[in-house]
Amino acid sequence: MMREIDTDVCVVGGGPAGLVLALLMLRSGARVTVVECARAHQRVVRGEILQPGAMELLDALDVLAGARARGAHEHHRFLVIEGERVLLEADYRLLPAPYDHLLSVVRPHLLDELLARCRRSPGFRYLPGRRAGALLRREGRIAGVIAEGPPGRCAVRARVVVGADGRFSRIRRLAGIGAGRADAFAQDVLWCTLVTPPEEPPVRDVRVYRTGGGPVLVYGSWPNRIQIGWTLPHRRYGHIAALGLDHVKERLVRAVPRYATLIRDQIRTTADLGVLDVFSARAERWVADGLVLIGDAAHTHSPIGAQGINLAVQDAVVLHPLLARALAEGDTSAERLAEFERRRGPDIAAVMRMQTLQSRAILSQGAFTTRVRPRLARALRRTPLYRKILQRMAYGNPSIRIADAGVCGRT
Ligand SMILES: Cc1cc2nc3c(=O)[nH]c(=O)nc-3n(C[C@H](O)[C@H](O)[C@H](O)COP(=O)(O)OP(=O)(O)OC[C@H]3O[C@@H](n4cnc5c(N)ncnc54)[C@H](O)[C@@H]3O)c2cc1C
Repeated sequence: MMREIDTDVCVVGGGPAGLVLALLMLRSGARVTVVECARAHQRVVRGEILQPGAMELLDALDVLAGARARGAHEHHRFLVIEGERVLLEADYRLLPAPYDHLLSVVRPHLLDELLARCRRSPGFRYLPGRRAGALLRREGRIAGVIAEGPPGRCAVRARVVVGADGRFSRIRRLAGIGAGRADAFAQDVLWCTLVTPPEEPPVRDVRVYRTGGGPVLVYGSWPNRIQIGWTLPHRRYGHIAALGLDHVKERLVRAVPRYATLIRDQIRTTADLGVLDVFSARAERWVADGLVLIGDAAHTHSPIGAQGINLAVQDAVVLHPLLARALAEGDTSAERLAEFERRRGPDIAAVMRMQTLQSRAILSQGAFTTRVRPRLARALRRTPLYRKILQRMAYGNPSIRIADAGVCGRT
């Protein structure tokens, strides 16, 4: 027999966007059910660098300290490096404390902390190990989801569904909304995690090594790991992989020779490497009657500049008061919910423009890039413009604040 759940808000996807929204809506008195296809031990997520904007909001939610206490590393700078030369530097130490750094937090640490907060509210239901595979409709509008998985089949009936199910969003597809994928930015990222020996000095910067074969991202991850992400043009990895694992490893060693021993010793099979299809996209629209898309489901970003989590958390914070009022007034029509896209769209467009510039800065070649620009960048460091750019990277829209709890009405 199918289990039936009746709730105010059904959030599909227990990532940063979904769980922050769940927590905020619970604080406003809503009943919230989160459907998450992964079980706790199955969660594998690579992106873990938090910008100051996300840190500040998570702190205001009383979540950051707990996530940090479970284990995290601070990073001072973003560096673009070629050989031994620093071509570009974003020094977060110039921002006001306490958010004067980047933070790499293992994703389950952050999500478990958010979940623990949500679980304090009696109106919270969490359904892990269940995938939302169909939408329920009533009188032409979205009115819930069918969730399936080993724990059993469930019909979650809700006054509003929030699609926070990431860049390949099923909810978006089921609602007939196009992903708006921009193939110009499509890339493959080859990802691996290596364990560093105790004598290795910790990596305290997020580094992008420019190499002839595509930029390689390296950062230190808690407790003693480094994450390596090698960005390749879309579908190029297949050609490289066809030459064998040793060839792939040696290409990686050439790109980051500092880690040669770790790469040669620890990458033993292709299972030690993950290949991710990375792209940027903006969904055709973010709302339908009874539905809102947030986070990567609404707008997907390339990993350049580590913006995705910040934007996902901010989406939830911006949507919260709009959704609370919409529920209180019994109107979750597309027209009403479109206020969210009107408010948030310009911020997202601005971040996408910034990422395009960052990506050009990382990929461009020639004497200007390698000789002139680093000198200009060093001169710029002493000016207010440098701080302004840094502020943009760190916060996106710095005016986003958590709204008072408010109260959601029930019908
Ligand atoms: C290689 C890589 C590196 C990155 N590095 C960074 C970084 O360092 N910093 C940063 O800020 N951003 C980074 N990003 C981007 C960042 O990961 C995302 O922007 C961010 O996770 C978006 O959060 P979200 O909650 O919208 O989606 P997600 O984090 O993708 O969460 C979606 C959740 O929905 C669940 N789900 C999916 N489908 C269903 C379904 N049908 N039913 C139920 N549950 C479902 C998933 O299991 C998942 O838990 C990176 C991205 C990539 C690809």
